[in-house]
Amino acid sequence: MQEIDASIKENHKRIDKAYAELLEGYRGIPKDILKVTLEVESGSHHGLVRTMDVPFSSFCAHHFLPFVGTVDLTYRPGRYILGLGKIPRLIHCRSRRFQLQELLVRELAEDMVNHGDATYVRVVSRARHMCICYRGPNDATTVNETTYQIGEPE
Ligand SMILES: [Zn+2]
Repeated sequence: MQEIDASIKENHKRIDKAYAELLEGYRGIPKDILKVTLEVESGSHHGLVRTMDVPFSSFCAHHFLPFVGTVDLTYRPGRYILGLGKIPRLIHCRSRRFQLQELLVRELAEDMVNHGDATYVRVVSRARHMCICYRGPNDATTVNETTYQIGEPE
């Protein structure tokens, strides 16, 4: 019993560390993450770039419970082609916070336009919310999809 008590006494350190990691998105700066790596001749890239099935975990700002899922992000480069690794880093930065799924896709789209010079962007997210799985409707199967689009693909 004493061993268990001693272990529980350390809980606050474990919890601090876990939540610092779960909410580490606040330490990221989207503008810095999207710093340009490859400049292209203006208007020379006519195709779209799509990054799909990027996993994320976040915290519902309403219930302080996790929601987890994936993001698909499609954009058309303006002056810059962004390194592909920047997209998952941006998604991590915007999701590891208290967040709403509807707002997550909007913030990602706006970051891509404001800091990545995208001329079109569409973001789709699908997620399961623990606040729906384990309370309220108690439904562990519902998946919520949110989308946000800026500009037109053609
Ligand atoms: Zn919720």
